[in-house]
Amino acid sequence: MSRSQDLFAQAQLSIPGGVNSPVRAFNGVGGTPIFIERAQGAYLFDVDGNRYIDYIGSWGPMILGHNHPEIRDAAIEAAERGLSFGTPTASEITMAEKVISMVPSIEKVRMVNSGTEATMSAIRLARGYTGRDKILKFEGCYHGHADSLLVKAGSGALTLGVPNSPGIPEDFAKHTLTVSFNNLDEVRQVFADLGEQIACIIVEPVAGNMNLILPEPGFLEGLREVCDEYGAVLIFDEVMTGFRVSRGGAQEFFNVKPDLTCLGKVIGGGMPVGAFGGKREIMDYIAPVGPVYQAGTLSGNPVAMAAGLASLSLLNSSSLYTQLEGRVSELTSGLQELADAKGIPFTTAQAGGMFGFFFTEAKKVTTYEQATQCNMEHFRTFYHEMLKRGVYLAPSAYEAGFMSLAHTETDIEETLQVAEHAFNVL
Ligand code: PLP
Repeated sequence: MSRSQDLFAQAQLSIPGGVNSPVRAFNGVGGTPIFIERAQGAYLFDVDGNRYIDYIGSWGPMILGHNHPEIRDAAIEAAERGLSFGTPTASEITMAEKVISMVPSIEKVRMVNSGTEATMSAIRLARGYTGRDKILKFEGCYHGHADSLLVKAGSGALTLGVPNSPGIPEDFAKHTLTVSFNNLDEVRQVFADLGEQIACIIVEPVAGNMNLILPEPGFLEGLREVCDEYGAVLIFDEVMTGFRVSRGGAQEFFNVKPDLTCLGKVIGGGMPVGAFGGKREIMDYIAPVGPVYQAGTLSGNPVAMAAGLASLSLLNSSSLYTQLEGRVSELTSGLQELADAKGIPFTTAQAGGMFGFFFTEAKKVTTYEQATQCNMEHFRTFYHEMLKRGVYLAPSAYEAGFMSLAHTETDIEETLQVAEHAFNVL
């Protein structure tokens, strides 16, 4: 038995499923999860002494690589002054100003502790602001696990086959309308029927929780138009894409401005942080200025602010994103060549520092249905062959992959050599 297997057996006795977030349990691929002891740069090191090239990056936050010295030092320095005060601090203003300077549509921002809190609060705000109850989301998009958003969701919910979780009263879920990602006609139809009752559209501008699906040209622009026409709030859930597909997130990449933006992952530099922000007029609808209640004991925590600010400050030029995108292209085009050479039906997708790959005959995957119809057997086999030889991919066919600025050309070459073996086994 490996140490990871031992620990997993032990963990299952005291933690449901042995994990604190479902997808970590390897349900999507089978086998035993690897327990990690430490991480540095592009690498994870497990409790059995193995090294992995990491393409999860803690599910997105570690865009600068693991244990970046400036981020670590900023957190330590802040911790030395006290872990939490529950009072306003100057670092919260610096953080707010930084976010406003980077994300095109944000005029005011509030910090929270996770992506789930960000989306949950943005939805409440949109409902309070418009005085409407219904919300519209897209099948396969995951916006965290708040009740009204865990309807036809992606990510772990999709991996485990529970897009609608027990414990969510139908009375809550009935206000969540779900349509197909990339299908503007369906959106227009729903608005034609119920537009006056819809508070908001929430969308992952690049869907990263059903593998990686890019918005078709005109899709995001169309959502903007529909929201303007019906007075609904457009929310971009940029928890994954924020500071990841470009400095200003997907809204900068695609040049479409939402009314509200949800952030998480990169914004905390590896600490538990989320945020939601947007138009001043809407944001001023939150307590204590406005009537919509939202709060948090640890929101704006000084250690988290220090780590997050250090991260955002290091992401100081768009050329870093060109570099990141270049690395992703090397990986995706390399994988495609290898698969083509073996005649394995396969395609890839990418946006800035994130990527996806699908075992499918389709040249391009644009819908949730296509994502769910991929060859899961191929994915599982490929996954384990890669893991065995030291490449750590997301343990589910419904998750995006993340590149960091610490990944070198040599890491990509090594990954592709391992992939060649893996494709050979399929
Ligand atoms: N929104 C998106 C797009 C996400 O990818 C996630 C998490 O993966 C969330 C929201 C929820 O964030 P958290 O897990 O920090 O609650």
